[in-house]
Amino acid sequence: MQIVDIEDEIDYELLNHEQIMGKITEVAARASEDYRGRTPLLVCVLKGAATTMVAFSQAMTIPVETDYMSLSSYGSGTVSSGTVTVRQDLSADVRGRDVLIVEDIIDSGVTLKWLVGELERRGAASVEIFALLEKPARHQVQLDVKYKGFVIPDEFVVGFGLDYDERYRNLDSIAVLKPEVYEGEQA
Ligand code: 5GP
Ligand code: MG
Ligand code: MG
Repeated sequence: MQIVDIEDEIDYELLNHEQIMGKITEVAARASEDYRGRTPLLVCVLKGAATTMVAFSQAMTIPVETDYMSLSSYGSGTVSSGTVTVRQDLSADVRGRDVLIVEDIIDSGVTLKWLVGELERRGAASVEIFALLEKPARHQVQLDVKYKGFVIPDEFVVGFGLDYDERYRNLDSIAVLKPEVYEGEQA
C-alpha cells in the first residue's frame, strides 16, 4: 500500500497490489485465448472500473478497443432502483461487436444487468463481463459473469479505483476502512 498518509484510516488490506495484478493477468490471458482472431470492445463504466480497465487492457495479449461510459443509477440510499440514466455515452457503435464489460465490483448487480440489456438492444454480437470483485451476499439479480476476479465478503472496500466519497481511488491495493471513517454516515 503506497499512501502512508492515509494508513491510519485503513482497517486492513484485503488484497495487495500483487494479488490484484496476478489475478487480472490470469483472467486476461484466458479472455485473450477466448477472443483470439477477434477484436473485442472493452467497455468500462466510470469511474470505479477505470483502474481495472487500464490494468486488464494492458494484460490482454490480442488487439482490443477500449471505450468508456458514465451511468447514474437512482434509488433510495444504497439500494439501486434499476432506473439507470446514461450520463456520458460510449463513442463506439456496438452493433455487431464482441463487447466485454470491465467492472470493478458487482454488488446488487442492478446497474450491470441494465447495461448488459442495453448493449444487447444496441445490437452487440456478444456481451460478456469481467468483474474484479464480487459480493455474492448482496446480489439481487442473476448475472452470467464469465470472467471472475475475487469473491469478497460483504464489506465496503476502497482502492484500485473504488472510492469512499471520491477518495481512495488511487490506492494501489484494495482495503477496508476503519469504522470511524464512516461514523455519522447513513449506510
Ligand atoms: P450495483 O452492483 O449495486 O448496481 O452497483 C455496483 C456499484 O456500487 C459499483 O460499481 C460501485 O461503484 C459501488 N459499490 C458497491 N460496493 C462497493 C464497495 O464495497 N466499495 C465501493 N467503493 N463501491 C462499491
Ligand atoms: Mg462499477
Ligand atoms: Mg463510488
